[in-house]
Amino acid sequence: SKMVKSDIEIAQDALLKPIGEIAAQLGLDENDWEPYGRYKAKVSANTLNKMSDYPEGKVILVTSINPTPAGEGKSTVTVGLGQALNKINRKAVIALREPSLGPTMGVKGGAAGGGYAQVVPMEDINLHFTGDFHAITTAHNALAAFLDNHIHQGNALNIDPRRIVWKRVLDLNDRALRHVIVGLGGVANGVPREDGFDITVASEIMAILCLSENLDDLKTRLGSMLIAYTYERKPVFVRDLNVEGALTLLLKDAIHPNLVQTLENTPAFVHGGPFANIAHGCNSVLATKMGAKLGDYVITEAGFGADLGAEKFLDITTRAGHFKPSTVVIVATIRALKMHGGMTKDELKHEDIDALAHGMENLACHIDTIKSFGLPYVVAINHFIFDTDREVAYVENWCRAHNHPVALANVWEHGGEGGKELAQLVVDTIENQENHFKPLYKLTDSIEEKIQTVVTKVYGGKAVDYSSKAKKQIKAFIKNGWDQFPVCIAKTQYSLSDNPKLLGRPKDFTIHVRELKVAVGAGFIVVMTGNVLTMPGLPKHPAALNMDIDQNGKVIGLF
Ligand code: ADP
Repeated sequence: SKMVKSDIEIAQDALLKPIGEIAAQLGLDENDWEPYGRYKAKVSANTLNKMSDYPEGKVILVTSINPTPAGEGKSTVTVGLGQALNKINRKAVIALREPSLGPTMGVKGGAAGGGYAQVVPMEDINLHFTGDFHAITTAHNALAAFLDNHIHQGNALNIDPRRIVWKRVLDLNDRALRHVIVGLGGVANGVPREDGFDITVASEIMAILCLSENLDDLKTRLGSMLIAYTYERKPVFVRDLNVEGALTLLLKDAIHPNLVQTLENTPAFVHGGPFANIAHGCNSVLATKMGAKLGDYVITEAGFGADLGAEKFLDITTRAGHFKPSTVVIVATIRALKMHGGMTKDELKHEDIDALAHGMENLACHIDTIKSFGLPYVVAINHFIFDTDREVAYVENWCRAHNHPVALANVWEHGGEGGKELAQLVVDTIENQENHFKPLYKLTDSIEEKIQTVVTKVYGGKAVDYSSKAKKQIKAFIKNGWDQFPVCIAKTQYSLSDNPKLLGRPKDFTIHVRELKVAVGAGFIVVMTGNVLTMPGLPKHPAALNMDIDQNGKVIGLF
């Protein structure tokens, strides 16, 4: 039997071009970018000003059905589609998120695609890369230090230490740091108070970096972040501490999109990586817009399923970035559809057309969602080697019978060559289908109306139930003038409902809103349903146990 190579073995065999060649291929000037080693570069955010009269490329959003624990291959299809568009002679650029070290060391591994559809150098991308996350971590923790120092030095702002909403962050999964007490050790060591750590990708600064259009916008947003309340319950913002300049300074390099390439030398921006749960979950607006200026097509991915990532991309990101998507690719896998149809994880290698037929309703729901945004779409079946021909034919026929454009993507196994049919379908769809894109709700709708719209039109639920805490918070948000933001709903990714066990297309359910949070700088209201962990833990056997490096510096076991 054929030896299946691991992602890292494939990546290490790749023939990379020096990054200057990739930049030149994009038409960038020597002065537009700065090398970070041989195969990475940062492209200055300022080049976007220069490109204002360039034609706008088409923005292609990749999303998926509700994922199973293994991931459905959105990054893989995103990279593969970029490679395939180049194969059919279209100028394509990819825009992806940067992986977080927490999940890399913990559960599933990286986020640089897989098989023959990867961005490289994957070791760097999956580890420290160009240092963006370190810069964000540092800016976040610097603010925490300034805040504690302000209180220690006399607390002129009258901040209530029990009402500080700014925690500390670390780019690791470390459950032991979820709740801590800082300031112990007597008078010289600050004022004791309860604190906690989140993972860096949950930082509002990460979300802001990804939504900012330029350095000025970044600074204004950082200054607007809510950090605490006073003893009189008045909100305290970063600008009250006068440190938005210093924070922006710490991010002066992180704001520039990182340029790398795929296994087939397709240009790819990998920049920013906010949570798709309590944040909007897509790479930076700057990278996507730059990709659209430099390519005829930019392909970008939104985290989790279309109920979370795509909804947020379409209601939050496009508004912040002032752009419009051209089409949406909905990734489905036979194995996930079978799980939605009732099979357990261990049974998935067996053919089961009945389960598959039942599971199609999950895909149908996500198609309806994209339609309700007025957008054209394409279904991509991410092919696994153990999918049977009958199963593949079933999904293709179901799509055709319902008039859904569909293509099989074999990019994991064959790279761009295996995605040509998908690429052609995407191009045809953009050229021939009407696009009536509109966000789902108006910003002037009330907070409850916005939530209700997403719950009924996207999740397929019936009602929303608010805890008494949530009701109080909504009143306070209205009083503070924060009700005009879009909503960023944090919900389990596994189900359309807020119960991870309800797979398929559940009906008539109620969504339970436990708590809200406002991200004034990022510009959205986080709506928490169920328990949302902002500092994950490690599993019993973390992925780190397989990792190593040999005496020549060759990386081993990074998936
Ligand atoms: P997502 O972006 O949806 O989280 P990824 O693209 O990161 O998913 O893929 C998750 C994992 O699944 C990766 O390790 C990748 O190599 C693997 N994978 C993706 N598509 C396939 C496929 N068609 N066959 C086998 N493995 C795949």
